[in-house]
Amino acid sequence: MKVVIVGAGIAGLCTAAGLSSLGAEVTLLERSAEVRGGGSGLSLFGNGLRALESLGLRAAVPDAVGVSLTVNGTRRADGRWLTRFDPSAIEQLRVVRRGDLHEALLGRLGSGVEIRTGTAVREVRDGSVRLEDGTSIDSCDLVVGADGLRSRVRPAVADDPGVAYRGYVAWRAVTARPVHLDAAGETMGRGQRFGIAPLPDGHVYWFASVTYGQSGEPGGIDEVRQRFSGWHAPIGEILDATDPTDVGVLPIEELARPLSTFVRGRRVLVGDAAHAMTPNLGQGANQAMEDAATLAALLGQGGAGVDEALRTYDRLRRRRTRRIARQASVIGRVGQWRSGPAVRLRELALRAAPDAALDRRLRRIQDWQPPVR
Ligand SMILES: Cc1cc2nc3c(=O)[nH]c(=O)nc-3n(C[C@H](O)[C@H](O)[C@H](O)COP(=O)(O)OP(=O)(O)OC[C@H]3O[C@@H](n4cnc5c(N)ncnc54)[C@H](O)[C@@H]3O)c2cc1C
Repeated sequence: MKVVIVGAGIAGLCTAAGLSSLGAEVTLLERSAEVRGGGSGLSLFGNGLRALESLGLRAAVPDAVGVSLTVNGTRRADGRWLTRFDPSAIEQLRVVRRGDLHEALLGRLGSGVEIRTGTAVREVRDGSVRLEDGTSIDSCDLVVGADGLRSRVRPAVADDPGVAYRGYVAWRAVTARPVHLDAAGETMGRGQRFGIAPLPDGHVYWFASVTYGQSGEPGGIDEVRQRFSGWHAPIGEILDATDPTDVGVLPIEELARPLSTFVRGRRVLVGDAAHAMTPNLGQGANQAMEDAATLAALLGQGGAGVDEALRTYDRLRRRRTRRIARQASVIGRVGQWRSGPAVRLRELALRAAPDAALDRRLRRIQDWQPPVR
């Protein structure tokens, strides 16, 4: 089977590994000059790790855990806890550097995958992939769109709703040196949140989200320092331990509406191309891994054939990702509330909610198994 995968992000790399393990002849097209994961961190949960396992990629994520990862939950800006996770609900959580993950996934691709960097796709039609340089790759048995939020493949599969800005931006980085932590998790204030996730080597992956008008121009780390000044320790220390040039800032966007299908003919979408969601549950990349594992498992079953496997993929993946994207979106909306009364209401609700209910939600999301190959 001749497969072309557009985009060498986490979705593209995982799908390439899965399909080449079935004996497919895979070409992976990446518009950037090199395949890399950027500078910040990523939270991976039990479901994503199980997907990697089924793809034979589990070793790409080290087993070690950051020291303080098990004391985890939601705090107020003054440090008072609102909710705490039971350690068993997050025991499978791992935090990695994106760059390390990309490198490890890339290193595990077999010789059945040809990678072409500096190759941007303009559009996909039937079994043909047209490149920006005017050439095309024809007679593909399967084209996989793994080209992220602003996918060029998406319009060839579904009615593309475009992306919607959700009213806040997020800065994120990994500290340049270790920082001692007693706890991890998220701190919520008025229209802003700060997240802390330790890496196994003591460095800290952090993010800071702030409600922001569409026309605003977020600045660098000085703006983060100013906005989060007076918040509980060790937020100031984490920012002091960060190299300003390592800080990236992004508007938080997602698909404006869920897609009506992830599959058309022999074209299929995976990762953000299929279901770009807000990062509030830390699930975008985990879901991309699930997509890749599901697609590989279904195609590997043989039996009913490729078209039936794609139909099953569409049904399984659309239902699950839609639910998770919707939950993430609501958490983001409530998390960014700005008015004093709304924030007090949120704090009351969080304090009143039994921790077990939040643990259950986290367990439910992680409780996923790939189809049997
Ligand atoms: C602030 C923030 C924090 C997040 N935290 C987490 C987290 O903790 N855990 C988690 O699971 N998820 C998280 N996510 C989501 C996660 O980053 C994404 O869901 C994931 O990276 C999507 O991977 P992808 O491969 O689908 O897309 P991408 O990473 O966008 O990769 C797409 C690739 O396709 C290439 N490409 C694009 N267009 C073309 C073209 N026309 N031709 C050829 N190549 C092309 C791009 O260069 C890129 O390499 C977070 C997101 C944000 C914004």
